[in-house]
Amino acid sequence: MDFLPLFFNLKSRQVLLIGGGDIALRKARLLKRAGVFLTVVSHTVEDELKAMLVDAHDQIIIGEYHSGLLDGKTLVVAATDDRSLHERVHFDAIERNIPINVVDTPSLCTFIFPAIVDRSPIVIGISSGGESPVLARLLRARLETLIPNGYSRLGALVGRFRHQVKATFGSVNQRRRFWEHVLEGQIAEKVFSGRDDEAEALLKAAIDKGETGHQVGEVYLVGAGPGDPELLTFKALRLMQQADVVFYDNLVSAEVLDLCRRDADLIYVGKKRDNHAVPQDGINALLVQHAQQGKRVVRLKGGDPFIFGRGGEELETLKSHGIPFQVVPGITAASACSTYAGIPLTHRGYAQSVKFVTGQLKNRKDKLNFAELVHPNQTVVFYMGLHTLPTLAEGLIEHGKPGSTPVAIVSKGTAADQKVLTGTLADIAEKQAKAQLEAPALIIVGEVVALQEQLAWFGDKVDEQNITHALGMIKGEDKSSC
Ligand code: SAH
Repeated sequence: MDFLPLFFNLKSRQVLLIGGGDIALRKARLLKRAGVFLTVVSHTVEDELKAMLVDAHDQIIIGEYHSGLLDGKTLVVAATDDRSLHERVHFDAIERNIPINVVDTPSLCTFIFPAIVDRSPIVIGISSGGESPVLARLLRARLETLIPNGYSRLGALVGRFRHQVKATFGSVNQRRRFWEHVLEGQIAEKVFSGRDDEAEALLKAAIDKGETGHQVGEVYLVGAGPGDPELLTFKALRLMQQADVVFYDNLVSAEVLDLCRRDADLIYVGKKRDNHAVPQDGINALLVQHAQQGKRVVRLKGGDPFIFGRGGEELETLKSHGIPFQVVPGITAASACSTYAGIPLTHRGYAQSVKFVTGQLKNRKDKLNFAELVHPNQTVVFYMGLHTLPTLAEGLIEHGKPGSTPVAIVSKGTAADQKVLTGTLADIAEKQAKAQLEAPALIIVGEVVALQEQLAWFGDKVDEQNITHALGMIKGEDKSSC
């Protein structure tokens, strides 16, 4: 290890910063966040830097550096572009045992600034020993995505109760178990979902009862998005990685499932149309049962749990059993399929509104209010409509939508084998009969579909030539092959 990581308390300490440009400004920002009194020396000082130095103990010296400026300083940072000046500062600082950082010159530094993830009081510093600051920064970006912002408030909450916990739990082991219980469970999750008061009340109750283990578990209803794991939210990923047990259905892709905690039990409760592997009541009961065993239960649902996902029904059952839950939104199929197919759902001049509609009709056209769906300048998106496509297209035409209205079917949206078939209300059913795009598939109806031609950017388009030829055969135009 070339540099020992240390965390330095610099509150109200005098720090010298040599330089007044952009890089000096960045260092000044960081140092001021740590509460230092800053002396800046430079021939010119940027306005923004000047504006930062508002404390009575801050100082700006317009002029030359000289070693006398090091008197009384705890730390020195050199951020100019003058190499010989940097060397002088370095030797002066070494002589006086003052830690020195010279920007971009590790050989002249006795300390370096790490890349920082700041969730004060939790702070993570990442260093590449000056070898590759970019790598350290990339790593930092990864950590930023994994560590919720609520960590600051969680850290502060723990800090407030540290002494009380120490007094309550005699042994180090008991304390460790207690804090693990707090930090990996419901109390932390309450903080992350902005319910600090409830978190504090639970923490107090846990201390009073001397609890060190899990009590009631909780359920996270998590939107898994359309399939591409990169479209998960940070929060979804975090909760998936904490799960003891995961209930998922057939819309959740294998790649997404793969990101769940390795030790979690993965239980399939999949539903296919008219073929429920586990009926909805059974799923509700399973969630309750596992949570009551103190487990952290993730219910993973394709897309968004509150859009044609029966999320509401599952939550009602949890609520009635007093089981805590959280809901994490996911990217719904309409958003995902339209973006990955290159079809903006709204677009000036084409559509000012969009409707999400279920296409599941149980063979009854009158279940849908077609009159509402035929307005011009509106995009209509049908979920679960692949098997009723002919009825949907017919119904729209009967209610006055022109047969020439563009339509797209997006099958397996965002997956590597995504397929898009386009046509019109008049011919889409026939085209699909030939192309046989597979479920899950979404149907998009409206003028915006015409934009797909120019804006498609992902995956394959169905081979139109073949379909057109095949359509000819279906219509009997190509008699020779009948
Ligand atoms: N809660 C989900 C929808 C569940 S209903 C969501 O928000 O996306 C199931 C229907 O969603 C399917 O019949 C299909 O119409 C659509 N769907 C879900 N994922 C899809 C995908 N990757 N590609 C195309 N359609 C999808």
